[in-house]
Amino acid sequence: MGRFDGRVAIITGGSRGIGYAIAGKLAEEGAKIALFDIEEQSLEVGANELRESGYQVMTRVTNIVEVDQVESAVKAVANQFGKVDILVNNAGIIRDNYLFKMTDEDWQFVMDVHLKGSFNCSRAAQKYMVENKYGRIVNISSTSALGNPGQANYSAAKAGLQGFTKTLALELGRYGITANSVAPGFIETDMTRATAERIGVPFEEFMKAAISQIPVGFGGKPADIANAVAFFCDEASGFVNGQVIYVAGGPQA
Ligand code: NDP
Repeated sequence: MGRFDGRVAIITGGSRGIGYAIAGKLAEEGAKIALFDIEEQSLEVGANELRESGYQVMTRVTNIVEVDQVESAVKAVANQFGKVDILVNNAGIIRDNYLFKMTDEDWQFVMDVHLKGSFNCSRAAQKYMVENKYGRIVNISSTSALGNPGQANYSAAKAGLQGFTKTLALELGRYGITANSVAPGFIETDMTRATAERIGVPFEEFMKAAISQIPVGFGGKPADIANAVAFFCDEASGFVNGQVIYVAGGPQA
């Protein structure tokens, strides 16, 4: 028996990186998985890898910023799998720059993907969760929510996501739905590789500098985030609501 036997989980941005690890973890413990991703090719690659492990996986090419696409994707999950129990708002992007160089487009794009995207998916999914009087929503924030130079847009969005999470927890708790947030620190993924590339530092060097600031002395892996997400998604975590857990190798200010 797995912790998530019979559960249906949607993971946005689930084809690679942290989202892929979350999908794998929930599937390994019994959940049926729906992956939403903006790009068809990487979506199918990720989904096929999971299917090869024997997991039940459906995919929807979905830009989470587009409300119509989200509504129809969530409906498709409910039609195919019968319900929606778990939503992990994981899809994310970065458009880093110092404030004086940050463009309106970079600001808006980051707000849209993290905030509008999570709003669209949560509003669409809660309908099915309320119907069943059960749900688990987990929003992927970041240590950057506490401030990070070069990330005015991303920090604001990730902090906003924490406020959003707490409000969902207050509104939806009475329906058996919890909303919590996982805030990762430095995790080795395409996103951190792209950051190193953008600032022109070899990835190994970039990692070494990041790790020197982490109390446990090593960088996080997507599996570390998946582990925390699975805790919030567990039926046994029903009294844990509106919380943020920093998974960052040390305490955060
Ligand atoms: P990746 O860049 O590896 O993966 C992000 C995923 O989100 C991709 O699959 C991407 O799709 C998808 N995505 C982006 N925009 C959209 C959209 N509009 N609609 C649907 N899907 C979209 O990132 P990570 O795995 O590193 O990050 C996952 C989450 O964790 C993000 O929210 C990120 O902000 C957060 N995080 C990451 C940290 C890290 O150190 N890596 C630290 C703190 C937080 P596609 O493949 O098509 O591009």
